[in-house]
Amino acid sequence: MDFLQQDRISAAGKEKQQASAAVRDNGQTPADFSSIYSKDLLPAAGGEEMTRGFLQELVHILLSYISKSSQRSSKVLDFHHPHQLREGLDGFSLELPDQPENLEQILVDCRDTLKYGVRTGHPRFFNQLSSGLDVIGVAGEWLTSVANTNMFTYEVSPVFILMEEFLLKKMQSIVGWSADVGDGIFCPGGTISNLYSILVARYHFYPEVKTRGMGALPRLALFTSEHSHYSGKKSASVLGIGSENVFVVKCDERGKMIPADLESSIVAAKEKGLVPFYVNATAGTTVYGAFDPLNAIADICHKHTLWMHVDAAWGGGLLMSDRHRMKLQGIERAWSVTWNPHKMMGVPLQCSVILIKKRGLLQGCNEIGATYLFQTDKHYDVNYDTGDKSIQCGRHQDVFKLWLMWKAKGSQGFGSQVNKCLENAEYLYEQLQRRTDFELVFKHKPEHSNVCFWYLPPSLRGLQPGPDRDMRLHQVAPRIKGRMMEKGSLLIGYQPLGDKVNFFRCVFSNPATQQEDIDFLLEEIAQFGEDL
Ligand SMILES: *Cc1c(COP(=O)(O)O)cnc(C)c1O
Repeated sequence: MDFLQQDRISAAGKEKQQASAAVRDNGQTPADFSSIYSKDLLPAAGGEEMTRGFLQELVHILLSYISKSSQRSSKVLDFHHPHQLREGLDGFSLELPDQPENLEQILVDCRDTLKYGVRTGHPRFFNQLSSGLDVIGVAGEWLTSVANTNMFTYEVSPVFILMEEFLLKKMQSIVGWSADVGDGIFCPGGTISNLYSILVARYHFYPEVKTRGMGALPRLALFTSEHSHYSGKKSASVLGIGSENVFVVKCDERGKMIPADLESSIVAAKEKGLVPFYVNATAGTTVYGAFDPLNAIADICHKHTLWMHVDAAWGGGLLMSDRHRMKLQGIERAWSVTWNPHKMMGVPLQCSVILIKKRGLLQGCNEIGATYLFQTDKHYDVNYDTGDKSIQCGRHQDVFKLWLMWKAKGSQGFGSQVNKCLENAEYLYEQLQRRTDFELVFKHKPEHSNVCFWYLPPSLRGLQPGPDRDMRLHQVAPRIKGRMMEKGSLLIGYQPLGDKVNFFRCVFSNPATQQEDIDFLLEEIAQFGEDL
């Protein structure tokens, strides 16, 4: 039979030939995918070989993507405008058909989907806090989708529910909680983890809110810093507390919450008749990578009997490093902690956890007890039906990939990965200090892997600081970014913050990044911006 016909999975050329060889080498009957449809795959009778052939083709596409993503000669992205992608490119169409397409087309669709996307595992992708392409993590994610189960009960997820328990215990002990406290759950991202912390804190002080709603409560106030993540405000509006009742506490020039300002905000809110109940401290702010002074904040929370949450979505990974964990000193005093392994620990998206110190609160707060899931007369220990702790019904299994990576690296492996990212940040910081065409946004050595800076084109270098220079500087980063996206050689984010005009934020969470990539970053930016 005429198998895996090269020319059919068009344009793939060499890549495709290797694929065919791979299938043949394995001695499997190859398939002509142009006449095969999804209905021919398992569970169709006799569909095993077709299924194997199809998945091997897919693995080949993914392997080639993974290996190209680690090559510096590959582009980070192949940018197209939304209208171009919507209209379709070189046979890649987003339109949904009425008739099934053959599997050859399906494989082309898979390849093209990756082609027009962004290589977040590329060593020169600096755009997001989550990056990298961990092979064990990918294996975990594959297994997860093959297992295709739901995290609500032990009945359907026996192994994963217990893995979650082990991971939560481990992470609680790393935070510094004793073995007799601690609860938690994996969530769809740090935003939801933070939402849980406010939900549970409110329930802790006002359990009647669960049945009687916000009308039964006084006007609540919560506190977070001006550099904190926007999920605090978002949660307050979702939970009916109201974003106006989020008090924004001032930060020092390094982006750390000023404890004295927290205290005076609490007093001011009380004077206005509000009832403070919750303080969010950030360990690793999103833009500056700053660590709030946790012990000082814990003292204030203790004095006013407020729930202390630590948002360590970004900074939590540093707990894995003996060299850097002291930056989170005081986190053990928190009543709840958000920690995103999908950021600094390089776990594939999504993987985030909310840890709650007091056991039973999550269950009490969220339990509804649907009898079609959470029967109490099952023949096993139903305490392992943890799904009613969640605000979801069905819940994706995000634990296996983290568990598998932990097995494969050990805690120490995560620690050295974190150390490496922070060494990269220090190297970038040193280079920036040395150069006159760049300016640091704040002068201090980075505490996390965030490094914030402006590029100064020659035309701006002699200008006096002031509104005119600011106005022009504000336009530099977006214009450089546009050129960068068109060329596709790297990707880094920019933003304004407070009174600071648009600046670049470089973040390192990908262990693939080396010093040469940092040198490249600076050279590229300088070239893109030279004539601005
Ligand atoms: C990224 C981030 C979040 C949100 O996490 P998601 O997983 O993106 O929802 C919350 N807080 C901080 C400090 C973050 O950096």
